Amino acid sequence: MSEHVIIIGTGPAGYTAAIYAARANLNPLVIEGDEPGGQLMLTTEVENFPGFPDAILGPDLMEAMKKQAQRFGARFVYGQAESVDLSQRPFRVFIADGTQYQADSLIISTGASAKLLEIPGEADLIGHGVSTCATCDGFFFTNKRIIVVGGGDSAMEEATFLTRYASEVTIVHRRDTLRASKVMQDRARNNPKIKWVMDATPLEVLGSNHRVTGLKIRHNQSAQVEVLSTEGLFVSIGHRPNTDFLKGQVQTTAIGYLVTNPETTETNIPGVFACGDVADSRYRQAITAAGTGCRAAMDVERWLESQKHVENPV
Ligand code: NAP
Repeated sequence: MSEHVIIIGTGPAGYTAAIYAARANLNPLVIEGDEPGGQLMLTTEVENFPGFPDAILGPDLMEAMKKQAQRFGARFVYGQAESVDLSQRPFRVFIADGTQYQADSLIISTGASAKLLEIPGEADLIGHGVSTCATCDGFFFTNKRIIVVGGGDSAMEEATFLTRYASEVTIVHRRDTLRASKVMQDRARNNPKIKWVMDATPLEVLGSNHRVTGLKIRHNQSAQVEVLSTEGLFVSIGHRPNTDFLKGQVQTTAIGYLVTNPETTETNIPGVFACGDVADSRYRQAITAAGTGCRAAMDVERWLESQKHVENPV
């Protein structure tokens, strides 16, 4: 059986696409992925999603979006899309457990994963002092000392942003030269609240009672190990868009983000649409992802109608 539309990936983009597609009677099938709910499942309080004046927990927001989509008939299957065949329609989606689905159109909303340091203590303290999103979590560190790890534009931008809240921000970078563009470096260097620890490798995140207390580092030249006291650690070492499973069948940027046609969510493959962080290296916010999810569902609806595949156009 061929579906009208399959949505691959759940996060604000996928869930919103599911709500809109379901309300348009497209009876969407949603492939949830190995980490249903996406990056927001790793955060605690979300204070910048409109409509929640007292904040909402990231997992609760995702659960509510899923329920809202189910209420209109969206169907969810657990599983990770391992590969796709986009060479002809219906498109085929292959799940890791061997299941195969077919659809006339696809919405790809597999997100991007923040890269992590993968050092001891980090995973345990995510959402409890370790964060990968300054915009989301900076406010929680008002008048506190923070460390930002990374030497790229994101690290400079996040460190500079975090000085609005923190009493002091220390950038820890693994080399003695930064990767960031000159303008971003200069902005950070001219900020009196930013301190620098260059050419040092993070070894372990220290914490107790669900709170970060320090970052253990090794100075690369001297091999000396030091503990930097901190109440927050922002890991800003880049994101990885989750596009490997497409195996080059959809156009991406050099670092793997899906490319959409200007003003729409269409990819270079007719019938394949992209929304959320998998196609957005710039904003990466829950609300922007949700907005593009809405756009993708509306684009799909119009595209299916143009193909005369919709049985009951709304
Ligand atoms: P990025 O340019 O890839 O930089 C990642 C940084 O993290 C690098 O300094 C890297 O060190 C470091 N790093 C990577 N893995 C690490 C590890 N395991 N341990 C310690 N450090 C590690 O990523 P990004 O800063 O997120 O930027 C991504 C793209 O977005 C870039 O093209 C950037 O220009 C763009 N961007 C632009 C703006 C802006 O213009 N406003 C803002 C943000 C991002 P090495 O340098 O040693 O490799």
